[in-house]
Amino acid sequence: MSKRTDVNDLGEFGLIDHLTKKIEIKNPSSFKGIGDDAAVLDYGNKMVVVSTDILSEGIHFDLMYSPLKHLGYKSVVVNLSDIYSMNAVPKQITVSIAFSNRFSVEALDEFYEGVKAACDYYNVDLVGGDTTSSLKGLFISITAIGEGEKDKLTYRNGAKNGDILCVTGNLGAAYLGLQILEREKQIFLSNPEVQPDLGKNDYIIGRQLKPEARKDMILQYFPKANLVPTAMIDISDGLSSELFHICKSSNVGAILNEGGVPIRPDVEQQAIDFKLDPITCALSGGEDYELLFTIDPADIEKVKYMPDIYICGEIVEKSEGIKLHTKGGNIHPLKAQGWVHFNND
Ligand code: ADP
Ligand code: MG
Repeated sequence: MSKRTDVNDLGEFGLIDHLTKKIEIKNPSSFKGIGDDAAVLDYGNKMVVVSTDILSEGIHFDLMYSPLKHLGYKSVVVNLSDIYSMNAVPKQITVSIAFSNRFSVEALDEFYEGVKAACDYYNVDLVGGDTTSSLKGLFISITAIGEGEKDKLTYRNGAKNGDILCVTGNLGAAYLGLQILEREKQIFLSNPEVQPDLGKNDYIIGRQLKPEARKDMILQYFPKANLVPTAMIDISDGLSSELFHICKSSNVGAILNEGGVPIRPDVEQQAIDFKLDPITCALSGGEDYELLFTIDPADIEKVKYMPDIYICGEIVEKSEGIKLHTKGGNIHPLKAQGWVHFNND
């Protein structure tokens, strides 16, 4: 009998490595292939940056609490975030959808209103895609194309021993927003008469349903300060998982300072209300779409007064591992989390 390996034995990243290990690059214009937030194509004067993502109903979104317009917006933003994280500027997207007959023209219109709103806000053109049917549910695949300058693109593999670790914005809110929405969904399912109680959590829920990518950093703050990070990644799966990606690609270790990880007080309180550890939400929650990046220590003055940037650790030798320095002064190995579980059919 032939061997059957469960995809969960490899995990998401193990599976990608496995499937792509025999792939060889044939064209010199394929400057950077698999293994970063986006591929980089070298066409002479400009570098072209490409990233793609699939979102599938029931796995990445739940239409019980994601309005289709927000879903359209978010689907675009998560792709643009991968382009910004290369220190590049998104210019075009393609949008492909597969949907069952449960979806009306009006429903798809709403989705496209969100797509258009994101294209307008981020100054990106929708230039193509594909439309087909599915037996069940909605699938969305978006490809984003951007441009960047060769010597300013930032990869996962550029972090060096002694570099300073920085993060933008605040973390953990998107995950807690999801917990609130899930809680209200369960209450609604057990008693549809009860109106959802979303409380005063507009900010937290907004971070889940309508995230933004950090175009301000890439278009304004970094160029103004003449800052080019040594490595960068966007935080889609949680700070821990992204830090592991940077360390693995760069062949370095890191010490993350718990005290330096930005968490809003209302987010901290919401975590406590759910009996969750706020730092765990920030480290493993995901979907914040902030940027995690490293800088040369000589550039520290450039970020000191930059709005919304937090210094949260440093890069060390690989042999020192990847560790969390807690507020209480303890040092633990950091756990990588944030892979996808492939579900049973
Ligand atoms: P992100 O979380 O930034 O979207 P992923 O973890 O999805 O990145 O992908 C990591 C790398 O693996 C990227 O370079 C991506 O293009 C590549 N990749 C993911 N899935 C596949 C696949 N099925 N075939 C080829 N390359 C893939
Ligand atoms: Mg990414």
